[in-house]
Amino acid sequence: MSRIHNFSAGPATLPLAVLEEVKAELLDWHGSGMGVMEMSHRDKEFTQIAQDCERDMREVLGIPANYKVLFMQGGATAQFAVVPQNLLRGKTGADFIVNGDWGKKAYKEFANHGKANLAASSEAGKFTDIPALATWKLDPDAAYVHITSNETIHGVEFPDAPDVGKVPLVSDMSSSFASRPFDVSKYGLIYAGAQKNIGPAGLTVVIVRDDLIGQVAPGTFQIHDYKNVADNDSMLNTPPTFSWYVCGLVFKWMKARGGLAAIGEHNARKAKLLYDYLDSQDFYRNPVAKAVRSKMNVPFVLANSELDADFLKGSKAAGLIGLKGHRSVGGMRASIYNAMSQEGVAALVDYMKEFARTRG
Ligand SMILES: *Cc1c(COP(=O)(O)O)cnc(C)c1O
Repeated sequence: MSRIHNFSAGPATLPLAVLEEVKAELLDWHGSGMGVMEMSHRDKEFTQIAQDCERDMREVLGIPANYKVLFMQGGATAQFAVVPQNLLRGKTGADFIVNGDWGKKAYKEFANHGKANLAASSEAGKFTDIPALATWKLDPDAAYVHITSNETIHGVEFPDAPDVGKVPLVSDMSSSFASRPFDVSKYGLIYAGAQKNIGPAGLTVVIVRDDLIGQVAPGTFQIHDYKNVADNDSMLNTPPTFSWYVCGLVFKWMKARGGLAAIGEHNARKAKLLYDYLDSQDFYRNPVAKAVRSKMNVPFVLANSELDADFLKGSKAAGLIGLKGHRSVGGMRASIYNAMSQEGVAALVDYMKEFARTRG
């Protein structure tokens, strides 16, 4: 077996220990005589798997008891519509802070549901910063304020939850979920696709304060009604059982590694290694304002973009894949989620140094 260093933005690298466990249990989960893929979601075996996952996630993230954890499908993209259907609660609009393509997509989708207020945007600066909180044009009557905690394409991350007062804060945390300690109680709702940091594609986690649910807009599909989902333990229909199971193993792995504090330190060390190198020379450049640089997705451009193809070809030969930047920004991007090792980032920096030395 040979494992490469996978810098893909998602689906993305998973912890080797988790994959080994999946492999060992693939044909026979805990003596049940069947694999998790083959189990009915109503079997007691799967019920156990589902409950363990939620328990471990609650423990690792410190999710307060008045928050529901929902296991849904459709990705963060479906949530761009499902959140307004649930959280408008008879109000007319919501505030959007747009500092990247994902936040812009959420903002655009909202227009199908209510009055979308663009409270702040950094698009004029090509999404390389987050507008200062003092400049946000927030509407006190908004149903909620929507942010994207980490913009995966642009590599821009909120250092902390912004204080938006009484209006519930909603965050798309897809690409920074469970990457460092954070205070769930500062949010009304958090959603995240699993495939960046906590498991395979197919599962979407929603964490929502329980007083915000139960007032869906007319016409909302039953399967999208958070209260209905919560009341039925996220099993209104067949859930993505295998992804849910792997997600549970990932949270067990996080616990064994010392929880979010340890994971956060590990991620900060990896990001520092890469940013320190990027800032030490001028062959490569990261364009993002230092205070809001992402610890999960690190975009960088080569001073001479004619070398991009060679850079990618050579990186692949060196066992480093998934480094091509998103088509909307070009250049490169290294996604260094929880499961990316320090050695992986060191190998990338070594490759970058060598490429710059021989081609610069
Ligand atoms: C990947 C990503 C999405 C889209 O997720 P899907 O699961 O493909 O719908 C949305 N928002 C952010 C921040 C992402 O990183």
